[in-house]
Amino acid sequence: MTSLCEELAEELGEKAQIERVENAILEKAFNRIRISDKEALFLWRHGNFRKMGDVAHQLRCQILPPNEVSYTVYRVVNYTNYCNVECTFCSFMDEVGSNKGYTLTVEQILQKLYEAEKLDSHQLFLQGGVNPELPFSYYIEVLQGVKKHFPHMHIRAFSPVEVIFMSRLTKLPLEEVFLTLKEAGMGSFPGAGAEILTERMRQILSPKKTTPQEWVLAMATAGKCGLPGSANIVWGSEEYDTEIITHLSLIRQLQDENKVLLSFVPWTFQAQTKKFRIRKVSSHEYLKMIALCRLYLDNIEHIEVSVMVVGKALAELALYFGADDINSPVIEENVLRSYGLKTVAEAEKFISEAGFTPVRRNFLYDRGKKT
Ligand code: SF4
Repeated sequence: MTSLCEELAEELGEKAQIERVENAILEKAFNRIRISDKEALFLWRHGNFRKMGDVAHQLRCQILPPNEVSYTVYRVVNYTNYCNVECTFCSFMDEVGSNKGYTLTVEQILQKLYEAEKLDSHQLFLQGGVNPELPFSYYIEVLQGVKKHFPHMHIRAFSPVEVIFMSRLTKLPLEEVFLTLKEAGMGSFPGAGAEILTERMRQILSPKKTTPQEWVLAMATAGKCGLPGSANIVWGSEEYDTEIITHLSLIRQLQDENKVLLSFVPWTFQAQTKKFRIRKVSSHEYLKMIALCRLYLDNIEHIEVSVMVVGKALAELALYFGADDINSPVIEENVLRSYGLKTVAEAEKFISEAGFTPVRRNFLYDRGKKT
């Protein structure tokens, strides 16, 4: 039988060993040497979130102006809430044919943009459900209508699942769909709807959604067509820790090969429906994810914290764990419960009180630009 002392010694030995490995990985990351998937998994499982955050923040200060935190201002317009994808976590959609939902006309969208401009918001984030009743001409008319009335407005639009639907609808190759949308006025492409890019999680969250390979293909094609964007991870459900690393690995590889991503934002699932299980992601787990993204995604410059999702207190801390942008204020958000900042003044006050100089940027991360 082992004595208590022997057990403690064994435990201490294991702890010391873990710390040694952790320090070695963090030193690599600090010296800008790429960490492997295995090392990322080790940090996610065993890393001390404060140590990871410390190195992540130092890295962010090496790469970007250390005293600055950026923000951007945009209007979200969800052009339709009819959707045939039926993600288990979504409370926004209405079933196609239910007559309960809506589809906005071009005029209704323009009206929202006139209102947004009064609030100093000159960028449009356009997204909706996958509505099989809409012809491809609808998307073109919306983009052209916005550009006609607001020529300087940047339009970040759609998501992989929407564009793949358009490709199937028109029977056009993805590349041609993107180029047609771009010609009509689309300026960039958000990598939304990724959640966790594994087949097992797709079956749990949205079996009718695009596969991980299709999502990657859509992002890569957007990049080839000159439509940069962002990507995210949404976690806090039934994912395995290995799936988190698989997701980040796909994103890093996509970026190595296509340079399409300007930023990355970690989100946690919100309690929207009872159809799937979510778990509470603790503050320390959220901060650890921010730090891990900064350490592992060495080819993506900006890590965003979503004030809208995590609230001000945690968002403020995230700015010391590797994040450099707050992705706010957002005017109107139908899909999520929002804790967001509503005005430029609120965003600047938030950043200043967190100890940084606020810098406005546009969707393309041009500093000092509104569109
Ligand atoms: S999250 Fe998007 S794709 Fe999924 S059901 Fe809701 S609207 Fe449709």
